[in-house]
Amino acid sequence: MGTRQSIPLVGILLALVTFVAMLLLDIDPIIATSALILWVGSLLLAAGRPPEPAPVVVKQTFNRDSMGNLIENSSTPLLVTEKNNIAIANRAARRMLGQHIIGQDARVAFRQPEAISLLGKNRNGQAIVRGLVRRQDIWQINRQAVDENLAVIELINQTAEADISRAHTDFVANASHELRTPLSAIIGYVETLSESGDSLDSPTSQKFLGTIEREALRLQSLISDLMSLSRVEAEKHDLPQQLIELSDLTERAVFDAAGSQREDRIELSLNADPRVKGDRQQLEQVVRNLVDNALKYGAVDTPVAVELDFARDGMARISVTDQGEGIAPEQLPHLTRRFYRTDPGRSRASGGTGLGLAIVKHIVERHRGRLNIDSDLGKGTRVVVRLPLAEPDEGHAVKVPQAADQDEKSDDWQDESPDLS
Ligand code: ATP
Ligand code: MG
Repeated sequence: MGTRQSIPLVGILLALVTFVAMLLLDIDPIIATSALILWVGSLLLAAGRPPEPAPVVVKQTFNRDSMGNLIENSSTPLLVTEKNNIAIANRAARRMLGQHIIGQDARVAFRQPEAISLLGKNRNGQAIVRGLVRRQDIWQINRQAVDENLAVIELINQTAEADISRAHTDFVANASHELRTPLSAIIGYVETLSESGDSLDSPTSQKFLGTIEREALRLQSLISDLMSLSRVEAEKHDLPQQLIELSDLTERAVFDAAGSQREDRIELSLNADPRVKGDRQQLEQVVRNLVDNALKYGAVDTPVAVELDFARDGMARISVTDQGEGIAPEQLPHLTRRFYRTDPGRSRASGGTGLGLAIVKHIVERHRGRLNIDSDLGKGTRVVVRLPLAEPDEGHAVKVPQAADQDEKSDDWQDESPDLS
């Protein structure tokens, strides 16, 4: 490839005319010739252009192997079909559907009417299929045609999104129901009072007013619990930063929860003074909710033991033990679900919202702690919260934890599930 140059003819002609003129004017021919050479040379140099880049020749190397390599490590299950037969399945797809699917007709591999209808029409589109791998699974199948024979099929797991959206719908339905019940009672009694005018005797109207007050207080505590829950959820990714001495906090919260009427049932043992990084108000709420449950569901006049010490794993441990009816093992995993009650009538009658343990669970999670509930039917319930200690350089040195002899039983319930409740 040569360098294309356009010769500046006009310039050269002018240089020649000047050269001839110089000779006619009797200027030294050596000077005239030098001037001509310089002039023409510089014109030619200026006319030179940079060479044009060589055109890039692309060699077509895209084949089945390279396509397979390209998608092999994607975490999304991907298939490439050729005339609806599965030609390539990446690792995620093979793990999900089995090695044997390669070579199979995609419609046979999926065996779902929605998928068969999408793949049969040989066009781009998507379908939602259920129970592809497990019964509750929901998958979105996207089909994108590459040409008239080849198509890429992408499988997207929608199960978690569906669970979250179902949990939100359930929550709204439950919350509305819980709010509507006391509200209906209030409206009913107010209507009766206003319609009956003076015809109601004083004790009856006092009784109605008492009910209205009780239901209004229930509404108030329901709203305050819902707000607590949403605040804790909103902050669940921020690690709390206050340095907290748990013994002072526990003592205060225990007696707050018991109040003067129930404080003689409390047996408090502060066996250690662990320091944790936490949110003071939220940790107080954990202790208050657990002590309130123990006093409420423990048998009348029986003691409620609250202990603070170190667990075997070195975490700070708060245990609340009552002597109540206990909780059936099959109910233990559901206790931290919002509005879950083992005995709805009894909980509502005592003004409970069914949100206490859900709030505890979220607060403990925010503090990177652990919640265990251990119950023996007919004997009682022990709820244990473990919290990680603050690092020794945060504040001042932490005492070397003395593991207490009694620890959580291995067969009790531990909250480790991702929260959708
Ligand atoms: P709230 O806490 O708002 O007053 P609540 O006590 O009904 O209402 P939670 O604290 O979330 O709600 O408890 C949920 C359910 O778990 C209770 O309704 C009760 O059935 C059961 N429960 C909780 N703690 C105990 C316990 N110590 N003994 C027996 N059952 C318990
Ligand atoms: Mg409670």
